[in-house]
Amino acid sequence: MSAAPKKDPAAVEAEVREKIHLEILKRTGAYHANDHVLLPSGQHTSEYIEKTLVTTEPSFTEGLGAVIAKHFAQWPVDVVLSTGPGALILSHCVARAHPSRPVVVYGTKGLSGGKRRVTLPVEFQRLIRPGTKVLLVEDLVSTGSTLNLLIELVEQAGGQVVGVGCLWRRTSVDLNNRPVFSLVSRDFPTYDPADCPLCRRDVPLNEEFVRRRAHRRPASIQEPHLP
Ligand SMILES: [Zn+2]
Repeated sequence: MSAAPKKDPAAVEAEVREKIHLEILKRTGAYHANDHVLLPSGQHTSEYIEKTLVTTEPSFTEGLGAVIAKHFAQWPVDVVLSTGPGALILSHCVARAHPSRPVVVYGTKGLSGGKRRVTLPVEFQRLIRPGTKVLLVEDLVSTGSTLNLLIELVEQAGGQVVGVGCLWRRTSVDLNNRPVFSLVSRDFPTYDPADCPLCRRDVPLNEEFVRRRAHRRPASIQEPHLP
């Protein structure tokens, strides 16, 4: 009997690390696996990630931020640029753990004439100057379009993009060959309902995430009218 071919130890280590990170995301309640989920697009999938829950556990966020910081520790960083307020907590944790003690700023996303647009608030603009070394941080990267716009913005200001750190990225994302480090690199398989293997096996469909978007209003309270 011949022994099974040995796997590259670095690949095994990366695989183990990714499993640990997935487990952490599962503990926050953000990552759902082995499910049968209806996506807003109408497609079905077995995995889902609830973005808003990703950074709700401070000690987990700090730990994950430190892993990203450690990866980029060998390069000097002046500024950690969050892709938006949503990734700001993670960005803070990355910056706090990076030996260069970078400052943290964020971009704001919006639409302009139906096109995606990213802006750097005016207060932050003087922090990114020619030669400034910038590390971009995002929580989940699905298409990379926001990141690509931010990279352009930094380079227009004369800054230099050190790399991109994120919790999760879909493997197909192209960031113009920038060094990307993600704790989890994984694509969700999505299926057309007509040829969904989970439907075929009669697994009950979880419509929770779509329903929640459509009907559930966020908890809110209003200031009483003053006479
Ligand atoms: Zn299905």
